[in-house]
Amino acid sequence: MGLYVLKFGGTSVGSIDRIKHVAQLIGEQRDGGHDVVVAVSAMSGETDRLLGLAKAIDAAPPPRELDVLLATGEQVTIALLAMTLETMGYAARSYTGAQVTIRTDGVHGKARILAVDERRIRADLELGRVVVVAGFQGVDAAHNITTLGRGGSDTTAVALAAAMKADECKVFTDVDGVFTTDPRMVPEARRLQRVTFEEMLEMASLGAKVLQIRSVEFASKFGVPLRVLSTFGSNGGTLIAPEDGQEMETPLISGIAFNRDEAKITVLGVQDRPGIASSILEPVAAANIEVDMIVQNAGRDGSTDFTFTVHRSDFGKAMQVVEAVRGAIGAQQVIGDNRIAKISLVGVGMRSHAGIASKMFRALAIEGINILMISTSEIKISAVVDEKYLELGVRSLHSAFALEQDSNLSDESLQVN
Ligand code: ADP
Ligand code: ASP
Ligand code: MG
Repeated sequence: MGLYVLKFGGTSVGSIDRIKHVAQLIGEQRDGGHDVVVAVSAMSGETDRLLGLAKAIDAAPPPRELDVLLATGEQVTIALLAMTLETMGYAARSYTGAQVTIRTDGVHGKARILAVDERRIRADLELGRVVVVAGFQGVDAAHNITTLGRGGSDTTAVALAAAMKADECKVFTDVDGVFTTDPRMVPEARRLQRVTFEEMLEMASLGAKVLQIRSVEFASKFGVPLRVLSTFGSNGGTLIAPEDGQEMETPLISGIAFNRDEAKITVLGVQDRPGIASSILEPVAAANIEVDMIVQNAGRDGSTDFTFTVHRSDFGKAMQVVEAVRGAIGAQQVIGDNRIAKISLVGVGMRSHAGIASKMFRALAIEGINILMISTSEIKISAVVDEKYLELGVRSLHSAFALEQDSNLSDESLQVN
């Protein structure tokens, strides 16, 4: 019989009725003779509610105390689920991250899991219990409660599955798997039966929040079979697995990810000389601001423009930092735009096909959407556009690449109309 780690997200445990439904799904696995470890999120909306309480006191609450507060959301759910299982006749035990122990580094708000002590869980499984673990949280070496960043319960589940060498980690959510794009934005989006770790990593890092990126990193590193499926009736969901080279044909594009959390800053008229990029970006890094895309053109007449993007929440701070060095680097002006969005095409099939970028740009042009920035890697192409065109852009690319169809393999799909 197998050992499964099941993860249930916020919507799946959003009410007592839903918790009862989740307990039934767990019960079915137990009745089938399987051992079950469960990771759960806070009830939907709870983490945001707690954040709101903290921010009503302090716009930038002390990170240690914020983690103590946010971790309570998941503690409520584990207890309610364990109680429900018990009332249904299934022995169950709930544990916080600290009780397991899920050891993390001490970076509050985005802690990394360093180790999972699986002994207590194994002992419970041997006694026939379902083990219910709080997602999203851990404890550092000094016994401080830490949290793993938004969406972090996915990572808890995969880390448990890796530590326990589980047969599969099943992430139950409110959609039936990973789709060609967010099915809430594009109803024609199609479920992918299988997606590679590499593609899922790109999709997660480019905005598809269906899995937290660190959970995919973990699953890939430790070879954890990972499946995303729906709590509310599944057709098999999506398997995230290594590229096995067995596929006869690889889809050109697996999916479209998008991200609204971007802002761009342009430094106009900077001197075109060695060291200029570092004089702009070093102070930005020193202010703990992560930079995403960077574009610099070849200079003319000794000067050039330099543009980069940051997370929208860092926009104000980044503008101040760059404005402060403007004089020193001899730049004319700093301008910014925090109403931009990034749309990305992802697919391992891109490696062996030319013409995808031009087809993407043509599809956006037909809709009158201006591209502000472009970046590419081997398996993705991203375009930054005005935020107001995000939905139109995603929909038009989805249909231009025929992603609603079962296969976008054929060479005709590359023709530019
Ligand atoms: P949970 O609370 O279960 O962790 P999340 O809200 O974090 O659920 O993630 C599931 C959501 O991810 C879906 O409801 C969907 O709107 C969104 N999503 C974004 N991109 C995709 C995609 N490519 N495939 C499936 N879902 C996606
Ligand atoms: N409750 C946390 C959040 O809302 C963690 C999670 O749901 O995965 O981000
Ligand atoms: Mg999530």
